[in-house]
Amino acid sequence: MNAPDPLRPAASGGKIMLVGLGPGAHAHLTARARAAIAEADTVIGYVTYIRLVADLLEGKEVIRKSMTEELDRAIEALERARQGRKVALVSSGDAGVYGMAGPTFEVLFQAGWTPDSGIEVEIVPGASALNTCAALVGAPLTHDFCAISLSDLLTPWPTIARRLDAVAYADFVVALYNPKSGRRTRQIVEAQRLFLRHRRPDTPVAIVKSAYRPKQRIEFTTLARMAEADIGMLTTVLIGNSNTFVRDGLMVTPRGYSNKYEVAAGERATRDGERAGRSLSTGLEGWLQAIRASGVDAAQLAAEYRLPQDYIATLLAEPADEATGAAEAPPEAAV
Ligand code: SAH
Repeated sequence: MNAPDPLRPAASGGKIMLVGLGPGAHAHLTARARAAIAEADTVIGYVTYIRLVADLLEGKEVIRKSMTEELDRAIEALERARQGRKVALVSSGDAGVYGMAGPTFEVLFQAGWTPDSGIEVEIVPGASALNTCAALVGAPLTHDFCAISLSDLLTPWPTIARRLDAVAYADFVVALYNPKSGRRTRQIVEAQRLFLRHRRPDTPVAIVKSAYRPKQRIEFTTLARMAEADIGMLTTVLIGNSNTFVRDGLMVTPRGYSNKYEVAAGERATRDGERAGRSLSTGLEGWLQAIRASGVDAAQLAAEYRLPQDYIATLLAEPADEATGAAEAPPEAAV
């Protein structure tokens, strides 16, 4: 997009493509991912990922690396791109989700690369394990969710534990990546222990192994029994929130429609006090009005809503804002 800078060396024509392969089956490889591999002179990746796309690699230079050689993979990609080659660095799922995208940019920046320095970098998105595993078990991610990797190879355990504790407390649906390996067996047990401090033992859990690959296996269990399940390197563990349920072999997290509508026999009626296209009566504005009108003090409200007392105190101290325009704004588009 920028005009060429005469002081810079002419573009080498080299390119690095960070290609997410999705879960593994060709049906879930995007058209752009396939085209990026076709465009590449060199394909670099972990042995297993190379195997996933083996039939697309004829005539290409292929560099297979082991799991622990991530930085080497990025350095090698840069060296090739400097020679004017087009390099595809392949990752499972999405290259930006616990993948090669981050380490590659770190290596590039360390080598003095900038976006206009002649080597183009393209990130080709792929369906990540949380998308594909969720699709296989139903609709577990229909409300707020997050991903936590249990790998402590590069992240200190207290950091991982703090995040587990926070999201368990905050009632997120959670996708656990890298839950267990031959050597790392205790992390999943500790994750369970931290979750059980905040969540019910019967919270639904889905264990998805080798999604969209020949050895695919799905198991439904509960938080109380999670650690006993058959979990390995190619497993993603989905832990529901306090509303998630399993029915007829499907794990579903409600979106919240039942807060607003009564759905009976195919008909939909708005609950008393709620309006279609408007925030809930317990949404921000409605809730603020209610706590102000209640006369209850900040300490008690903080305990009731499990929110910081100083946050509630600040809200109560502010003058009621009549300029929000909430009443006049058009309803939000239905989703
Ligand atoms: N970039 C990848 C994640 C790499 S980390 C992505 O976006 O999906 C590796 C972890 O991803 C594994 O330990 C597992 O938790 C998860 N994973 C990757 N592929 C999977 C698959 N086919 N089935 C289940 N989990 C998978």
